[in-house]
Amino acid sequence: MTPEEFRRHGKQAIDWIADYLAGIESYPVMSQVKPGDIRHALPSEPPEHGEPFENVLSDLGRILLPGVTHWQHPGFFAYFPSNASGPAVLGDLLSSGLGVQGMLWVTSPACTELETVVVDWLAGLLGLPEHFRTDAAGGGVIQDSASSACLVALLAALHRAGADGIDRDYTLYVSSQTHSSLERAARIAGLGTAGVRVVDVDQDTLAMDPGHLRALMDQDRAAGAVPAMVCATVGTTSTTAVDPVAAIGEVCAERGVWLHVDAAYAGVAAICPEFRWLNDGVSEYADSYATNPHKWLLTNFDCTVLWTADRAPLLAALSTLPEYLRNAATTAGAVIDYRDWQVPLGRRFRALKLWSVIRWYGAEGLRAHIRKGVTLAAELAGWVAADPGFELHEPHPFGLVCLRPLWPGLAEEEADRATTRLMELLNASGSMYLTHTRIAGRVVLRMAIGGVATERRHVEQAWEHIRWEHAALSRTLPRTLPQTLPQTLPHE
Ligand SMILES: *Cc1c(COP(=O)(O)O)cnc(C)c1O
Repeated sequence: MTPEEFRRHGKQAIDWIADYLAGIESYPVMSQVKPGDIRHALPSEPPEHGEPFENVLSDLGRILLPGVTHWQHPGFFAYFPSNASGPAVLGDLLSSGLGVQGMLWVTSPACTELETVVVDWLAGLLGLPEHFRTDAAGGGVIQDSASSACLVALLAALHRAGADGIDRDYTLYVSSQTHSSLERAARIAGLGTAGVRVVDVDQDTLAMDPGHLRALMDQDRAAGAVPAMVCATVGTTSTTAVDPVAAIGEVCAERGVWLHVDAAYAGVAAICPEFRWLNDGVSEYADSYATNPHKWLLTNFDCTVLWTADRAPLLAALSTLPEYLRNAATTAGAVIDYRDWQVPLGRRFRALKLWSVIRWYGAEGLRAHIRKGVTLAAELAGWVAADPGFELHEPHPFGLVCLRPLWPGLAEEEADRATTRLMELLNASGSMYLTHTRIAGRVVLRMAIGGVATERRHVEQAWEHIRWEHAALSRTLPRTLPQTLPQTLPHE
C-alpha cells in the first residue's frame, strides 16, 4: 500500500468509524448471533490474490457487524465501560502509524520518555503519593491489563520475599470479591491455587476483614509458609466494594508483606477531589497500585497503569540483558527500559493515546466525565430505591448500581431464575445490555453507567424498560420460568 493509497483508504476507514459512531443507536447493543454464525459466513481459505481494501470495509459492515457487541452504545451497561473516545482512537492510530516497538529506550526514546511523563502526570491528577513518581524511588508503567499488573506485582513481591524459585510455600491473600486475575497470577507465578488464601469479607459491605487477614497470615507463618502478597481492592468488579486499605496495610507493614492495591475500575475517579478518599492508606502502605484508564477514563483498551513505591524489587525480579539487546544507554544505566517492568519483551506506544486523551479533555474534562457517570448512577439508584418492586444494593459510590427485582411468592431459587430470565429478555431486546452478579447468594443485576455516549435519557429509558419487563414477566410467572439457571460468569 503506497502512501497515496493509504491516504485514500485511511479516509474511508475514518469515515466508516465516524458513521458507525454517529449511527450506533440503530444497532442492537448485544450481538444476537449464535455460536459459529460469523465463522461460517467467512471463507475457510485465505485469498491467493490481494483484494481491494473496500472489500474489507464492506465485509466488516455486512458480515462482522452483526457479530459485534456495541461497547460504545449508550445503552451498554454491562461489565464496566470500555471507553473508546475520539482522541484515544486517534492516538492509537498514530501509534500504529509509527509502528514503533518500544521494548528499550534506544528502540525509540520518545516512546519511553512520553510514557514516563504521562504516568507521572496521571499520578499527579489522581493525587497518588509523590514516591510513585519516576524521579522518586517508584515509578509507573503502562501494562496491557490489570491482570498483567497484578502478576508483575506478585513477581516483585515474591522476589522481595526471597523467592528466586518457588523454594518454599509462598502465599497470596485475596477475598472472595477479589478479581479472578489474582488467582491466575498465583497459578502463573507457581504458587498454585493451594497458595491462595481467601480472607473473609464483611457481610454488608463485602470489604475484606483485616482481622481475619492477620489471623490467616499468622497461621501460615506458624506452619512455615511465607506470606508474599496481599491484594486489596478499591472498587471490586462485582459490586464496587472498597477494602480498608489502611487497616490491611497495617497488617502487611507489621509483617513485611507486599501490598498490591487493585483499583482497576474505580481508581481513576480520584481525579475528582471528592473521590480522593479512594487513596486512603495508599501513600502509607501500598507497594504497588494499578488502575485502568481503559475502563472509565476515556482511553480505549488496552491501557492499565501500574505504579510501585519502590521499583527496585520489580526490576530485580524481571531484568535480564541478553547480548543482542545490549546498548550504550542501557549499560550506562542512563535510561528506563520498560521491558524490565512487564512480562513480554515487546511493547506498543500506548502512551500516545493516553497523552492524546489527557490533552484533549484536560483534567477538567476528565473530571466532568467521571461526575456525569456518578450523577446518573445516583439518580438511577434513587429511582430503584423508591420502587417497591426492586431492592437496591448499598452503597453505590461510583457508576455501578446493583439492583434486585423482587418476585413476591417465589422461593429464592425461583426468584433467581426469574431475575436471570428478565436479564435475558432485556438483553435480547437490543436496546440495552446489562450483566449480573451474586450478592449473598442471590442473583442481582449490575448496571454500570459511564459510557462516552450515555446521557440521562438512556438511563431513564433503560430503567423504564426494566420496570415494564419486570411487570410483564411477573404476570406470567411461574409457568414461564426455565428449569435451570444458565452457567454464566460474573466477572469480566
Ligand atoms: C476489570 C477488573 C480487573 C481486570 O482488568 P483487565 O485490565 O481486564 O485485566 C481487575 N480488577 C478489577 C477490580 C477489575 O474491575
